[in-house]
Amino acid sequence: MKITVDESRCVAAGLCVTTEETVFDQDEATGIVSLLTDTPEPQAREAVREAARICPALAIAVHEDPA
Ligand code: SF4
Repeated sequence: MKITVDESRCVAAGLCVTTEETVFDQDEATGIVSLLTDTPEPQAREAVREAARICPALAIAVHEDPA
């Protein structure tokens, strides 16, 4: 899995950070998302998928590994 975020879409809602804090972070001043890693560990992947689903700005893109 590889993930990307579109900071220009992020509305700083913070839902991704509360969903998976080992992957997502927020700028302290602006609240805009940043990635701690773009290749989540296996145990974090389901939470990353959930974060992408619930992000109100659809700013998180999940690229699954080819089967
Ligand atoms: S959930 Fe979406 S809008 Fe909210 S901080 Fe994360 S990327 Fe930004």
